[in-house]
Amino acid sequence: MKKGFIIAIDGPLASGKGTIAKKLARVLLGVDLYTGAMYRCVALYCINSGINLEDGAAVTSQLGKIVVGYIDDRIVLNDTDVTDAIQDGAIAEGASIVGVIPEVRAELVRRQQEIGQEKAQQGNIVIVEGRDIGTVVFPDAALKIFLTATETIRANRRMEQYHRRGDIRTFVEVFEQIRTRDKRDTKREMNPLTSDPEKQGYFVLDNSDMNEEQTINEILAELRKRKLYD
Ligand code: C5P
Repeated sequence: MKKGFIIAIDGPLASGKGTIAKKLARVLLGVDLYTGAMYRCVALYCINSGINLEDGAAVTSQLGKIVVGYIDDRIVLNDTDVTDAIQDGAIAEGASIVGVIPEVRAELVRRQQEIGQEKAQQGNIVIVEGRDIGTVVFPDAALKIFLTATETIRANRRMEQYHRRGDIRTFVEVFEQIRTRDKRDTKREMNPLTSDPEKQGYFVLDNSDMNEEQTINEILAELRKRKLYD
């Protein structure tokens, strides 16, 4: 098996990117990098500091005080484990608001490139997951996957995640939330989630009718085709 390369996974909200990136990392004995955590940490830090997330200059001025660490499967913000805290719906919403600020994106992209490159140079297979990984962060990734599913399926998946955490929301509420965030992610000026993944060289995988195992098998088959896995 080839070593020391990057796999990019992009796609809309609740398409299963996080779960698939983690599983793939286990199967390939690689490491995964969840870039959404960085946007979520910026939102969490600014909310806790009373900063208006729409105020680009104010949010940007805080970046130097925000250190995001990945320790095993935990996300650490300035020495505090925030893995659970950043899953909150308000933080997810906040992440997509700070994600439209160009200075925030430029800095977080730079940090992601630094971590990803370092890990790949150490010989790891690095699975980087987000919205702009195959287009901006690692456009030369060995494999770029665009993972997607229908809006209804994604809304159901997200609703179940909320319910498991005891956060009871209606389907309509979650569906609307998904629409708003998807729109913000695809329409923003800087580094939007691509609307034409094939043209951008992605392997497009609609997993609406697939379980996790089937999705992983499709990806492994694609890796084999490219002689990246045997
Ligand atoms: O992936 P996750 O849902 O945790 O991401 C939260 C938000 O962070 C997304 O809706 C998106 O606005 C932003 N994000 C981004 N670029 C990334 C990762 C996440 O803009 N690479």
